[in-house]
Amino acid sequence: MADGSVVTTFDPYAVRAQFPILSRQVNGRPLVYLDNAASAQKPRAVIDALTATMEGGYANVHRGLHTLSNEATEAFEKAREIVARFLNAESPEQVVWTKGGTEAINLVANGLGLQIQPGDEIIVSEMEHHSNIVPWHLLRERRGAVIRWIPVRDDGSLDMAAYADLLGPKTRMVAVTHMSNVLGTINPVAEISRLAHAAGAQVLIDGCQGAVHATPDVQAIDCDFYVLTGHKLFGPTGIGALYGKAEALEALPPYQGGGEMIETVEQDRVTYAKPPHRFEAGTPPILEAIGLGVALKWLTQYDRAAVQAHEHALYQHAVDRLQGQNWLRILGQAEGKGAILTFAVEGAHAHDVAQIMDRYGVAVRAGLHCAEPLAKRMGVTSSTRASFALYNTVEDADAFVDALIKARNFFV
Ligand SMILES: *Cc1c(COP(=O)(O)O)cnc(C)c1O
Repeated sequence: MADGSVVTTFDPYAVRAQFPILSRQVNGRPLVYLDNAASAQKPRAVIDALTATMEGGYANVHRGLHTLSNEATEAFEKAREIVARFLNAESPEQVVWTKGGTEAINLVANGLGLQIQPGDEIIVSEMEHHSNIVPWHLLRERRGAVIRWIPVRDDGSLDMAAYADLLGPKTRMVAVTHMSNVLGTINPVAEISRLAHAAGAQVLIDGCQGAVHATPDVQAIDCDFYVLTGHKLFGPTGIGALYGKAEALEALPPYQGGGEMIETVEQDRVTYAKPPHRFEAGTPPILEAIGLGVALKWLTQYDRAAVQAHEHALYQHAVDRLQGQNWLRILGQAEGKGAILTFAVEGAHAHDVAQIMDRYGVAVRAGLHCAEPLAKRMGVTSSTRASFALYNTVEDADAFVDALIKARNFFV
């Protein structure tokens, strides 16, 4: 840290060595993996935990009264506790397993939809991922909800004054991302929550990026709901979590019906289990949940501030080296942003840029990044994105810049 108050021993090379995939080659070059905002790679600890569970402690959860089921149940519920601690939730009962970030938001939107009146308003921002837009569009189409948009300023920050003006007596929900998967902007989510609550609205924070790169403290943010996805947190696919305040979850009707989410089922009536089980119909993603727990334990062994500083240093190194390249337009330069570098190359399509970079072993994403309204707002039809994680190194950042300049030279 700049003030010298934290001594870090963070070593990205030691982290990197724990990821088997990072030592492979792509197109005859060492892999430079910079598509972390789309999905992160998995450390040995997670890979081994999944194998060990399948080999030694697997059965369905909650059902059996036999040893394996009890062991699996214990590991599964332990993982829920780990997520609760990771989010600084008051209790594991506030953590609902979902299959990812998308399902978590749909779960909330679906429940809210049953209670919404035509003309009720949902506020989102122009920088949302489609996962935090389309579920609200469904409420617009099916229930007559009105979607209102917080504008994004030219630097990639939210226009908070405009946000304050959007809030009103009809606002039911404010659903905003903690961190933009395109611009890297980290939003003032505690302030967003405070203003929404003052207007009597609920708040959902999409933490699919924020949980990885910012501080996902749900009590400090004071949100009603917080969403994360496992595969971006170095865990398996097919697992995510919805945090909800106890009273917010209690007020939410069930999402899907099936086994394990009920209290009693009769021919002419049904009663539901308490949260979180009310929202977990059917056999849950058992292995995936256990894997996510292991991933979070693995991740939190590192000092979060040191990791963020490391990622940001890589981002800054790449930006500094690209200084003065007037063919390059970087999208998003908000104060305090995270390590996502999204850009447009003059005269080249983003897909072509990414494909040429792949020839040099550099994996980046190109397109709309599931955020079409944001692309429109920033005035681009597509862009290319390099997103850094804790296992990236300064060599990766250099390989990225070198490959980008070669790609650019291809088009002039
Ligand atoms: C990845 C992402 C999502 C969707 O998560 P899934 O795991 O694909 O369901 C939602 N919001 C943001 C900001 C994301 O980055």
